[in-house]
Amino acid sequence: IPEYAFIGRSNVGKSSLINMLTGHKSLAKTSARPGKTQLINHFLINKNWFLVDLPGYGYARVSKSTKATFQKFITDYFETRAQLVCAFVLIDSRLEPQKIDVEFINYLGESGIPFCMIFTKADKLGKTQVQKNVAAYKKHLLANDWEEIPQYFVTSSADGTGREEILKYIGAVNDEINSGSQF
Ligand code: GDP
Repeated sequence: IPEYAFIGRSNVGKSSLINMLTGHKSLAKTSARPGKTQLINHFLINKNWFLVDLPGYGYARVSKSTKATFQKFITDYFETRAQLVCAFVLIDSRLEPQKIDVEFINYLGESGIPFCMIFTKADKLGKTQVQKNVAAYKKHLLANDWEEIPQYFVTSSADGTGREEILKYIGAVNDEINSGSQF
C-alpha cells in the first residue's frame, strides 16, 4: 500500500491539515515535544493509501542530543520506506524561506526522495502575499541548482483550500501505481 508522508516544522499546521484532508476532527494531534508521543502514525485512508504523520521538526527548546536522535529517526524513515511515494513538506505560507525548511527540502532532493510542498495557513494573509512567499521559495530552489520546481499546493485548513487538489493528486498517483503494477 502506497504511503504519503506529511512533515514540517512544529506548529506549521500539520495536524490541522491532516484532519482537514481526512475529514476527521482530531485524527492527528499536536505533540508539544518530540519523543513524548509515538513518533510515527499511519492512517489508512479509503483502504488504498497510508497517510503517514511524521513528527514536526525544528523544536526550539530541546537538547542537542534529542535533536540528533530525532533527526536520525526521520532520516531512517526516509531511507528505509520502500512504500513511500511522496513526502509532503509543509511550509508556513506566511514566512519567507526558512533555513530549516530549505535544508530539509535539499536533503530530500539529494536523497532522491520525491516530494511536494504544501503551503499552509493561506487564509491568514492575502493571495498576493502568499504568491510572493511561494515565489521566494521557487527562487531559492532554482538558486540551489534545482532544475524544476517541485509540485506544490497552497492550502488552508480553516477554509478547506487545497483539499481537492491534494486528494486528486494522490488519487492520480495511486491510479498510476495500480495500472503500472499489472504489467
Ligand atoms: P502542527 O504542530 O504542525 O500539527 O500544527 P497545528 O495543526 O496544531 O496548528 C498550529 C496552530 O495553527 C493552531 O493554533 C491551529 O489552529 C493553527 N492553524 C493551523 N492551520 C491553520 C490554517 O489553515 N489557518 C489558520 N488560520 N490557522 C491554522
